[in-house]
Amino acid sequence: MTPTSTETGAKALDGKHAVVTGGARGIGAAVTRTLLSHGARVTITGRAADPPADTIRALKQCGEVEYAIADVTDADAMKLAFENAIARSGPISILVNNAGQGASAPFLKTDAKLWRRLMAVNLDGTYHCSQAALPSMLAAGWGRIVNIASIAGLRGYEYVSAYCASKHAVVGLTRSLAMEFVSKGVTVNAVCPGYTETDMVTNAVANIRAKTGRTADEAMTDLLARNPQKRLIQPAEVANAVAWLCLPGSEAITGQAIVIAGGEVM
Ligand code: NDP
Repeated sequence: MTPTSTETGAKALDGKHAVVTGGARGIGAAVTRTLLSHGARVTITGRAADPPADTIRALKQCGEVEYAIADVTDADAMKLAFENAIARSGPISILVNNAGQGASAPFLKTDAKLWRRLMAVNLDGTYHCSQAALPSMLAAGWGRIVNIASIAGLRGYEYVSAYCASKHAVVGLTRSLAMEFVSKGVTVNAVCPGYTETDMVTNAVANIRAKTGRTADEAMTDLLARNPQKRLIQPAEVANAVAWLCLPGSEAITGQAIVIAGGEVM
């Protein structure tokens, strides 16, 4: 009988190089931690010259992790960041398109600048990074792309039209790439969280308070009004779904949009 990876001490993602965009904060940091725990080496990207030192230190204690400065909206910068990451840590096997931004405004106050910013980060960023990572995956005949979309990629919500449109587009891109690479050993899936406890929600609560004069508790109650579990999703819950899509046994799962939202979207 062949020994299992637990018996040999090997980990399921040993030897795999993962890139997690926006990996130094929030959901991205949780995803990075989980992929490291399964043995992957991880390159995380972000815009900050000085990413949160505590997080980087904690991640380095979990495994081999490098940080690269690059803005996902800048195709040339991302191409260079991926080339450097490949030169340093080897071909890319796993890409988690996590970097993203949210913003709310009534549609008639959604100006071109806000619209373009959200499309540029959430959609163009996913496009740039997928183009930079796919050649490695196709050469190896194995790859996993996981796009962190949102439940706002699956249904409409008022006052977030630009965010919703960008995330619906990410889900569409996910399905299209899944079809295109289905016979090449590359799976492409989206994970769609509901409101998750990160800076993005902290900012959303502050925004509601500033615009409506509600208390923080009232603002949070508003955000959770449609969630049957009446709680924020934890970043680790999203990370577990991402890891599952990258681990052995998930080969048949592609083109899916997996909802992590306490029953808010079915
Ligand atoms: P955070 O605001 O905590 O983190 C966002 C991350 O994205 C940061 O690491 C940030 O890094 C990075 N980022 C933002 N803009 C850019 C850019 N232009 N170029 C490169 N990196 C960028 O948010 P979350 O962790 O909550 O969000 C992660 C993903 O999950 C996003 O795609 C978001 O839309 C999605 N999501 C979040 C939900 C939530 O309720 N929190 C719910 C559903 C989906 P830096 O600032 O250093 O560049």
